[in-house]
Amino acid sequence: IEKASILRKKYGIHVSGHGVPPPLESFVELSSGYNCKPYILHNLSELGFRQPTPIQRQAIPVLLSKRDCFACAPTGSGKTLAFLCPMLMKIKPGLKNGVKAVVLCPTRELAAQTARECKKLAKGRKFYIKLMTKELSRCGDFDKMLCDIIISTPFRLDFAIHKRKFDLSRVKYLVLDEADKLFELGFVEQIDSVVKACSRTTVVRTLFSATLPETVEKLASTVMVDVVRIIVGRKNS
Ligand code: ADP
Ligand code: MG
Repeated sequence: IEKASILRKKYGIHVSGHGVPPPLESFVELSSGYNCKPYILHNLSELGFRQPTPIQRQAIPVLLSKRDCFACAPTGSGKTLAFLCPMLMKIKPGLKNGVKAVVLCPTRELAAQTARECKKLAKGRKFYIKLMTKELSRCGDFDKMLCDIIISTPFRLDFAIHKRKFDLSRVKYLVLDEADKLFELGFVEQIDSVVKACSRTTVVRTLFSATLPETVEKLASTVMVDVVRIIVGRKNS
């Protein structure tokens, strides 16, 4: 416990919530302490990521312990990897078992970029990672929509759920990335619909944001259970 607080102080990490796991000292700890498969560490090193960023140090162990998490850290601080890494570690590829993870992004561009990063980190393992495009959301062909991980804007995914009966009832990880922007853009209804569609009782819900407006705090308190709050740096940077 002492060590955890020393590390948090060193990296400017603030946490609230009970029993928060200690921050990572290094990526190597993922394999020594969390059973991480070698392909991920290999990919991290290929990407040139030597050390976890502060938000990654704290958010990765929290998500690996299957706690709902509300994470706030400045733009450019590595939030994408902070949710992708534990997600890949906790789900197994296999199309028979339905969609296992959902990432909601505020814009198409960001969704496409997140899908690319996800594929880089997943390289070497047979995950089906799909970007929900306009065409895909409209096609109504269930085989084409089958995947392990779906990355989408709220609008496209809401459309697929309601008009195409896209099934998210087996999702284990739901990420709302850039939650502040999702709200600014007025996606409240669609987010609500996606949260409801990920109906598994054990779903881990995560919210990442660069700032902490009231709307985001409110959503966090309504949709998340026994949440761990992580803040890196200033509250509104
Ligand atoms: P955010 O979502 O917080 O704005 P990103 O996840 O987009 O930030 O990451 C910003 C940049 O930092 C990206 O180019 C990403 O590849 C890089 N990056 C992420 N994690 C690390 C790391 N551990 N070491 C070095 N660079 C990293
Ligand atoms: Mg981001």
